[in-house]
Amino acid sequence: MVGAVSTARPRVGVLALQGAFREHRRCLEACGAEVVEVRVPAELDGIAGLVIPGGESTTIGKLLLEWKIMEPLRERALAGMPIWGTCAGMILLCKTIADSEQPRLGLLDATVRRNAFGRQRESFEADLSLAPCGPAFAASPFRAVFIRAPLIERVETGVSVLARAYKPGEEEGEGRIVMARQGGLLATSFHPELTGDLRVHQYFLDMVAERQGQPS
Ligand code: GLN
Repeated sequence: MVGAVSTARPRVGVLALQGAFREHRRCLEACGAEVVEVRVPAELDGIAGLVIPGGESTTIGKLLLEWKIMEPLRERALAGMPIWGTCAGMILLCKTIADSEQPRLGLLDATVRRNAFGRQRESFEADLSLAPCGPAFAASPFRAVFIRAPLIERVETGVSVLARAYKPGEEEGEGRIVMARQGGLLATSFHPELTGDLRVHQYFLDMVAERQGQPS
């Protein structure tokens, strides 16, 4: 059905090798999705989107190789399956990781820097305007939790910047990129799974539904 958006309950995966995958699972289920924990390539079958959680990006990258899921996952992404990476997941999505050769999916045309907010801000919260994400975000800001967070230093053509936040001592100007999207790839420096505000999870599920409505 060309152009039709599927109304069936979406079936999405959460990469469950390490990190905050249970929290994402709870949020996606609260949005009405069916959730599969993904650890091996076969578990990618039958899912329409995947969340890569926060955690430790070098560990998750090594496990993706060890469990032989890096390449199958890259192939699914290149075939159009939406993927949302939060924090460590965002790092793994990016093509370039500043000063690091660590394993990555390398799909998003962006340069990311790990632990980019400095020691004094190992963990902090900020209210972000996510208005570019649509009407659901217009009425109130999104409380964003940052934990040893990365930021995107540079995006290439084709990547939309959806949110920015300030680095310590840099409260002037437009701020640094903390949320970006390129087609079916979504990246957030912060952790929407920790706040009880389900709007970003719903936004991702809408991306998945849009993709399911398209001819493959
Ligand atoms: N600092 C971590 C890394 O580089 C990411 C932190 C997180 O996911 N909360 O992998």
